[in-house]
Amino acid sequence: MTNEAWGEVRQNLLSAVGKNNYVNWIEPLELAGLNGGVATFFVPTNFMGNWVSRNFGDLIQKVLTNAGETVSRVEFSVPNQPAPTAKKAEAEKPAAIAETAAAAVPGVGGDLPGAPLDSRFTFDSFVVGKPNELAHAAARRVAEGGPATFNPLFLYGGVGLGKTHLMHAIAWELRNRSPELRVVYLSAEQFMYRFVQALRDKDMIAFKQLFRSVDVLMIDDVQFIAGKDATQEEFFHTFNALVDQNKQIIVSSDRAPTEIDGIEDRIVSRLQSGLVVDLHPTNYELRLGILQQKVEQFSEQFPNLDIQDGVLEFLAHRISTNVRVLEGALMRLFAFGSLVGREITMELTQDCLADVIRHSDRKITVEEIQRKVSEHYNIRLSDLIGPKRVRTFARPRQVAMYLSKQMTTRSLPEIGRRFGGRDHTTVMHGVRKIEELMQQDSQIADDLEMLRRALEA
Ligand code: ADP
Ligand code: MG
Repeated sequence: MTNEAWGEVRQNLLSAVGKNNYVNWIEPLELAGLNGGVATFFVPTNFMGNWVSRNFGDLIQKVLTNAGETVSRVEFSVPNQPAPTAKKAEAEKPAAIAETAAAAVPGVGGDLPGAPLDSRFTFDSFVVGKPNELAHAAARRVAEGGPATFNPLFLYGGVGLGKTHLMHAIAWELRNRSPELRVVYLSAEQFMYRFVQALRDKDMIAFKQLFRSVDVLMIDDVQFIAGKDATQEEFFHTFNALVDQNKQIIVSSDRAPTEIDGIEDRIVSRLQSGLVVDLHPTNYELRLGILQQKVEQFSEQFPNLDIQDGVLEFLAHRISTNVRVLEGALMRLFAFGSLVGREITMELTQDCLADVIRHSDRKITVEEIQRKVSEHYNIRLSDLIGPKRVRTFARPRQVAMYLSKQMTTRSLPEIGRRFGGRDHTTVMHGVRKIEELMQQDSQIADDLEMLRRALEA
C-alpha cells in the first residue's frame, strides 16, 4: 500500500474516531508493512499498541478493507523491541529466542514460514480455571515435547477464550526447551496465503519442502480453510506427511471438527484422530482471576493507580464471557484512570465503560429470561415459576434465577417475587447452586452460555 493510500485511510479514520482520539492514537501510527493479509504498524510504546489494537484495531482493519486492501489482521509493534510486557517474557527475551530458533534451522534459516509470536502469550500469563483446565493441561503436555502422544492436538472454543494464547504458549515453551526444533506457528489464513502464492509463483516444491521439514506445525483458526478445496488438499497432504514422520501438529478452531462445514470428511477424521479438547466459556472465577492478573501486569505501567474494592468483581460479573472484551475494558479503565489521575472507583468505571456494560445490561427482564429458559428446557412457563419441586423444574428455575441475578439489576427479593413469590434466600440458594454446578458440570455451563447469548442477541 502506498503512503498516499495510507494518507487517505487516515483521513477516513479521522472522521470515524474524532479529532482527539485521532491525535492521541492514530496519528502516531506508522504503517510498517502489509503482508499476507496482515497490516503491521509501528507504535511508540507497547501500551499504546495494546490500546489501539483493542479499541481501534477492528476499525482500522475495516477502513483498510474499504480502501481495497486485503487485510485480515492488524498488528502493532514497537520497532526493534517486539512487545515484551509480561515481566517473565522480558526476562527471557523471547524475540531473541525466536531469532535463534530461526537461525538454527539448517537450510531453512530465517525463512521459516511462521507468524511472529506474541511475547505476552505464555503459560505464565495464562490463568487456569475450570473452563480451560483441560485445554491447558493438554497444551502443557504437548509443550513438554517428547514423543508426539496427542497428535494432532485439536483445541477449540469460542472467540476470545484463549486458543491463540495457548498455541503461542506452546511455541514459546518448545523453543525454550528445545531451540533446535523447527516450530512453526501460523494461521490457516496465512497457510492459504503462502499456498496461493506458491501456486502463483510456480514454487510448489519449495512450499511442500518447507512445510514438510518442520518438527512442530501449529495452525490457528483452521476453520478458515473450510470451502477452500485446493488449500484443504494441500493441508491434508502436509498433515499426513508430518504425522507419518511422527511430527507434532497442533490445530485450533472456533468449533469442533465435526461442526466445521465445508471440510472434507477425511480431514475431519484426521483432525479428530488425536486429542480434541475444548475451551469452555469463562465463568466468574476465571474472569476475576484474569482481571487480577492483568491488574498486576498493568500496575508496572501505572504504578500510582488504585482500584477501589469491588470494581474487579463488578467487571467479572457484568462483562461478557469473552476475555478479549474483558481485557479491553480493563485497559480502558487504566488509561482513563491515569489520564484523570485518580482512583478507579465504581463510578468512574460505570462512566468509562458505559457502552460495554450497557451491552450486557441491556434492559433484559426477568420475564424474558423465564421465557427463554422454559423454552430451552422445554417446560411450561407455569412450571418454571410454579411451586413444583421436582428436579426437571427446579433446576431450570435455578438457572433462570441465576441469569436474572446476573443479567438484570433486580434485587434478590424482587427476583423472588417474580418466581411465584419466593423468598430471597431461596433465590440466593438457587444462584449459589448454579455457580457451584457450573464448576462441575460443563453441560450447565454450556446451557448458561447459550442462554446468555440468546438473551443478549
Ligand atoms: P482466541 O484465539 O481463542 O480467540 P485469544 O487467545 O486471542 O483468543 O485470547 C484473547 C485475549 O484474552 C488474549 O489477550 C489472551 O491473552 C486473553 N486470555 C484468554 N484466556 C486467558 C487466560 N486464561 N488467561 C489470561 N489471558 C487470557
Ligand atoms: Mg485466535
